[in-house]
Amino acid sequence: MATAGSGAVLSCLGTAALLETGMELFASPAFDDHEQVVFFFDRGSGLKAIIALHDTTLGPAIGGCRMWPYASEAEALTDVLRLARGMTYKAAMARLPFGGGKTVVIGDPRRDKSQALFRALGRAMDSLGGRYYTGEDVGTSPLDMDWASAETPYVLGRSSGSSGDPSPVTARGVWLGIRAAVRHRLGRDDLAGVRVAVQGLGHVGYHVARLLAQDGASLIVADLDPARAERAAEEFGARPVASDEILGVEAEVLAPCALGGVINDVTLPRLACAIVAGAANNQLLEDRHGGALHARGILYAPDYVINAGGLINIAEELRPRGYQRERALAKVQEIAQTLTEVFERAAREGAPTNLVADRIAGERIRLGRQSRAAHAVREPVPARAVAG
Ligand code: NAD
Repeated sequence: MATAGSGAVLSCLGTAALLETGMELFASPAFDDHEQVVFFFDRGSGLKAIIALHDTTLGPAIGGCRMWPYASEAEALTDVLRLARGMTYKAAMARLPFGGGKTVVIGDPRRDKSQALFRALGRAMDSLGGRYYTGEDVGTSPLDMDWASAETPYVLGRSSGSSGDPSPVTARGVWLGIRAAVRHRLGRDDLAGVRVAVQGLGHVGYHVARLLAQDGASLIVADLDPARAERAAEEFGARPVASDEILGVEAEVLAPCALGGVINDVTLPRLACAIVAGAANNQLLEDRHGGALHARGILYAPDYVINAGGLINIAEELRPRGYQRERALAKVQEIAQTLTEVFERAAREGAPTNLVADRIAGERIRLGRQSRAAHAVREPVPARAVAG
């Protein structure tokens, strides 16, 4: 399959090509019955991208476009598969009429960006015919989305006339989620004096810290960029610690707001908190680490439930009457209620919260599939189609 663009050719490689590189798709541990995985290459701009659509039962997929200098194509594939699945579950738990998908662009965002590259990505998006909408993510910006949108309507989060930076809205959902977790685990309705360790003070973490400080929480912070930790110290009275210390500090809440995989075999024994609740995607290195948190009595706020604010915000752009911030913020309020339902069901069933959230999301998708099947108009199959 090839699509002619403006002087460039987008090629879509199949599974056979994957296998030639020694990389497996269907046998990958990150493969979870994804509906479609497409590789795109554009010679003119150097675009190398993978788009994964995990599940579109509840509606067209939504998920950001990440640009990262992956060490290998296999690493990029694993990332896009995991992230796309997370988006399906995130949309289902936020009761949004959308499915999950994700894009990864293999490249260094500091060196390899160009208008031609994002226009090629736009053509790649367009070839999916509206089954998938993308927006900015790690390594990409609204300006990049402007370039892509010159080629396709299936791009959200442009620099003007759109929902804008999702990070403050994501932070708002995380803050509400932390309050819900503190209420459930510590029986407290306020955060005055509650110690929260925030790892990462970037676009989301900074705003999480700001909201927590307004509530009187006692903040301990770390960022690889010391200037960010110092800024939080000045503005919020936070106590900065070294990046390699933050996961082990004594606090009621640990809020991972940097990268994924922070809850793993190495970090688990060091945790000295009662709650893990933060913005980062894929906080558990593996599902079993949710079980390990549960066994230690640490309450985990499933990442794709607590950090859904950004998705809720950007999905508002697809409403018939367009984006309305107040409506997005009202829907973000629901995150606290959803988390409380997960916590209470997990307590009743004696199960880890990540598994309970997976179960609830899975149930919603199954119901959607059943109702779609029940409403499907069954057209008689033409004789010619079955004859050959
Ligand atoms: P960002 O890149 O703006 O910020 C990340 C910050 O973490 C940076 O300041 C970085 O220096 C710091 N950091 C990285 N590794 C660290 C470490 N080991 N210790 C301490 N600090 C470290 O990213 P962001 O947009 O704030 O997103 C943060 C996380 O939240 C990511 O995992 C992202 O996928 C997730 N997320 C973001 C949104 C959103 O709306 N931006 C939505 C959902 C989920």
